[in-house]
Amino acid sequence: MKIKVLGCSGAEFPGHRPPSFLLDSKILFDTGSLTDTLDIKSQLRIKHIFISHPHLDHILGIPFLVENLIFRMKGHRVNILSIPPVIKTIKRSLLDGSIWPDFTVIPNTHAGILNLIALKPGHSIKIGDYTITPYPVHHSIPATGFLVEDKIKRRFFYTGDTGPSDATWGKIGEKQIHCLLIEASFPNRMEDIAIRTGHLTPRLLKKELLKIKPYPERIFVIHIKPQYFKTIKTELQKLKIKGLRLLKDGEIIEI
Ligand SMILES: [Zn+2]
Ligand SMILES: [Zn+2]
Repeated sequence: MKIKVLGCSGAEFPGHRPPSFLLDSKILFDTGSLTDTLDIKSQLRIKHIFISHPHLDHILGIPFLVENLIFRMKGHRVNILSIPPVIKTIKRSLLDGSIWPDFTVIPNTHAGILNLIALKPGHSIKIGDYTITPYPVHHSIPATGFLVEDKIKRRFFYTGDTGPSDATWGKIGEKQIHCLLIEASFPNRMEDIAIRTGHLTPRLLKKELLKIKPYPERIFVIHIKPQYFKTIKTELQKLKIKGLRLLKDGEIIEI
């Protein structure tokens, strides 16, 4: 598996792009950086978009993507997949026709370019060689991470935005995660606000990792708020966590 990091930051900021991860050119996880980073040919290859939760930094590429693609290829469809409350909010707040056209009914009411698919938490969906399973995380609104497994049982888990959560790791069970993309949005001194808003700090991240059995092979930190980038980096370095490093926009991860 090859993941291209279109963006991995906790905000849109000069030199930092919001989260979006492209798996093997075809499957996208969140859409914070999309139409500004991929050319049209690459945008056309995307048929499945998994959304962790409907906060703007994770969904903002959807309207621009469909507008770019709708008249390119007749019958082109893009699936948007997530747990039911996420799908419901996307339909109600992003695609209700008030701030952007409702692309679930364009070009045809029975076959819109966007197809919304609700996934049952903990239940897998097969897409090509991948088995993808949503495992809800703990955020300020309903949100989910995704476990992705290929046919030789290599796995990565993308948390999206999450605060401390016992349930997520318990539900995944004892599966070796070869690559963990996990957030750390705030510095240690802001632990209180991190917990209230469903995010992690470096210290909380370290505690979270101890809940994961077996311990993940590689850990990439994402969703850092750019204003606190230097502090969070230093705090993470001091914790000396095995296998951990910060991810950068534009990087490619091989799993
Ligand atoms: Zn969020
Ligand atoms: Zn976010």
